[in-house]
Formats: sequence, C-alpha cells, structure tokens
Amino acid sequence: DRAAAASAPLAAGALADGTAVPLLANLGKPGDAAAAIALGAEGVGLFRTEFLFLSATEAPTVAEQQAAYEQLLAGFAGKKVVVRALDAGADKPLSFLGDAHEENPALGRRGLRALRANEQILRDQLTALAQADAATTARGEGAELWVMAPMVATVEETEYFTAFARECGIRVPGVMVEVPALALLADRVLAATDFASIGTNDLTQYTMAADRVLGSVASYQSPWHPAVLRLVADVGFAGRTLGKPVGICGEAAADPLLAVVLVGLGATSLSMAPAALADVRASLRAHTLDQAKSIAAAALAAGDAASARAAAVAAASPTR
Ligand code: PEP
Ligand code: MG
Repeated sequence: DRAAAASAPLAAGALADGTAVPLLANLGKPGDAAAAIALGAEGVGLFRTEFLFLSATEAPTVAEQQAAYEQLLAGFAGKKVVVRALDAGADKPLSFLGDAHEENPALGRRGLRALRANEQILRDQLTALAQADAATTARGEGAELWVMAPMVATVEETEYFTAFARECGIRVPGVMVEVPALALLADRVLAATDFASIGTNDLTQYTMAADRVLGSVASYQSPWHPAVLRLVADVGFAGRTLGKPVGICGEAAADPLLAVVLVGLGATSLSMAPAALADVRASLRAHTLDQAKSIAAAALAAGDAASARAAAVAAASPTR
C-alpha cells in the first residue's frame, strides 16, 4: 500500500545488469541530511563547506566546525560522506583569506590556491573534520569520511593536499578534477591520491574558456561537449587502470541521459541535487554497462554538444 511504499527503502543506484553506481547527494548544510536520505541518497558526494565561512568576519574555530561536521556525519551514519575543503576566492571574498580584487576571479587565487596561502585555515578545517570523524565513530554513528580539495591544477598540488590531509588525520584524501590540466594528467594525479571527483561545472567552464556566470557565453557551458566528455573519459580510464574511484559531482550528473554517458566513460558514482536522484536512478536501471559504453562512444564521436546529445539519444533509443 501507499504508506508501505513511501517508507520502503529506495533501491540503490545500479545499471540494468546490476553494476552498482552509488547515487549521492550534493549538500550545503548538515541539516539537509534527512531530506536527501528520504529521496534515496546513498551518502554525500559533495558537501560544500562555504556556509561555515561566507557570513563570517573571522574564520570559524575548530570547535565550531567540528560541531557542524559531527551533525553531518551522524546524519549519514554508516554511509559515505565526501566533504570539500573551503572553495573561496575573489568571487566570494573573505576578509580572513586576504582576498584582493581580481579581474578574472575564476582564474585567480581560489580553492586550494587560497587555502595553501592561508595554511592555518586549511589545517583547522581538516583537523575539525578528523576530530568529528573520530568523535562520531566513537559514538557508533560515524560515516565513511572522504575529504577533497577544490580547484587543483597540478600533480604537485595533489601530492601537497594528500600529504597535508593525512597529516591532519584525514583517512581518505582526494582531489576535484575541475581544471583540464589535471584531467590531462589523470594517471599521475590518481597515482598521487585516493580518489577523484569531477566537477563538471568548472571543468566545462575551463575547457570551453567561457565564464560560467556570464549569460552572454552561456551556450558554451554544456557538459555534453565532446571535449569535456573526452576529459571525463581520460579520468575514468586512469581510475579504472589504477583501481581508484572517480565520482562526478557537477550538474552533469543530474541529467538522466548524461548520467548514463558518464558511467559509460568510467564514473563510479554520481552526486547531484537530491531532487534529481529519482530520474537518474530510473535512467541507469534502463541500461546495461555495455549499453552505457556504446551510448558514451556515440556522444564522444560527435563534434559539438548538441550533436553529442542527439547521438546519445539515438544510441539509447530502444527501437535501435
Ligand atoms: C563543479 O565545479 O562542478 C562543482 C561541483 O563545484 P561548484 O559548482 O561548487 O564550483
Ligand atoms: Mg567547482
């Protein structure tokens, strides 16, 4: 009956052949856990931590951050939670990061670049996360905590963050792949850290050299572009070769057909706004891994975003 159906756990993300594809939530507040789980989130693939910092005039203390992270982890006890280190820059200026005006903030000192220039802020955040992990685990309500850095551009930065996070007590450090240079060296990047998560919003912006917040160039901002898909495929291939997880946490994962393409290119989990989970879950269930790979190959072979999408639609069509 209806009440039973509403309370029955939603099926986990999987392809038609049973290949598991964990479906995770993009969240920005610890209090959003219950709603995401009700929509079938199997964990968190991107927890944005900016809320702790953006309204503050000084950096939040370790204790303040730890309390927020404990609430988050307890809300997802037993599940995976991927937290992103502070992603600030001149577009979201923070006085305590010493942000100066920049003509091109998307290309400036943001993400890991800003954290590295203010290492105590990074140390405090990672320490608060490690302590929250230990405290919730001790209470039997721990989650599987992974922590990743935003706006990483080099293998050296990957090595730096991975080592620094481990020093601070983080068990599973990784990097976001948002800069084409990082995707192009994915084999070396994944050899240097535990996992990658592709941020398709920024990866598209930087691949197409089109500001993602500028309406006059919005037509360039399509993650269907085969240039973007090829970078995703490179990261997916490196992940498979090295046995390292490659998640997707940009908006692209919320498009039901593009989600199938991304899995065909090697993504091992998808993270999205919770409202998108149901449609993506249904779309994955309709295709096997072999079908996903051939739909992805059709999109990759196209010359632009619109024809990549059309090729994927045709390849996915059951009348084919
Ligand atoms: C991305 O760039 O795709 C991403 C997930 O991060 P944000 O949208 O917060 O920049
Ligand atoms: Mg980003």
